[in-house]
Amino acid sequence: MSFRVCVLGSGSRGNSTWVATEKTRLLVDAGFSRRETLARLSALGERPELCTAILVSHEHTDHVNGLPKLAADWKCPVYLTAATHAALPPGTNLPACETFTAGERLTIRDITISPFAVPHDAADPVAFTFEAEGVKIAVVTDLGYVPELVKQRVRGCHCLIFESNHDLEMLKLGPYPWPVKQRVMSRQGHLSNLATADFLSGDEFDGQARILVLAHLSETNNHPEIARLSAVQALSCRATGEQPEVHLAMQSAPTNMFRW
Ligand SMILES: [Zn+2]
Ligand SMILES: [Zn+2]
Repeated sequence: MSFRVCVLGSGSRGNSTWVATEKTRLLVDAGFSRRETLARLSALGERPELCTAILVSHEHTDHVNGLPKLAADWKCPVYLTAATHAALPPGTNLPACETFTAGERLTIRDITISPFAVPHDAADPVAFTFEAEGVKIAVVTDLGYVPELVKQRVRGCHCLIFESNHDLEMLKLGPYPWPVKQRVMSRQGHLSNLATADFLSGDEFDGQARILVLAHLSETNNHPEIARLSAVQALSCRATGEQPEVHLAMQSAPTNMFRW
């Protein structure tokens, strides 16, 4: 009875999530510096040095910034796909690597991990579900739209950590250069509040998750209350079921530690 998850921080300046049981501690993405990661974990009462493994979703800086130093420090294996490994910045030295393939389950001690492909402009981007003690958690960010595969994979989740990157109007009117706006809006970019709301209100979402964490919010092209309201309104359109708690993962501080 100790499966737990916390988004240590999320956004374009760094992403990292801690998923743990009594026996196993996983860092999902290492987007913060070693110092910042240690500080956030310690403040939560976790022991970072006991990290079992680091998993990498894709090679973008906001997911791997602290990776070389953390992997060296903890001497723990880094799990990633071969294509993501090849796309890491030149000179990235990892002490121990384990490669996985999207679509193939892997087990690290008592946690079963299912990596699956997501549409994003990286070499081989994946999202993950984690299962232990009868509980399923999904961590799904950095995708341009919600394909059928993603809808299937997040079914049965108790906790859904899901991207709600930008408000379309704020992005269109905002300061980003046009090519960057196009990239964010593309099918290989990031999910808008509207795209996330469409998924949450649709029939293909089973509505079982009791905890929904909106993640990878843009600090420039979104506002936390706009993202929250969009998700809450989408969920209220659902005919049946209890509403999940809606939380926001922010850049500057961790979410609650959610426990089962
Ligand atoms: Zn990202
Ligand atoms: Zn990315």
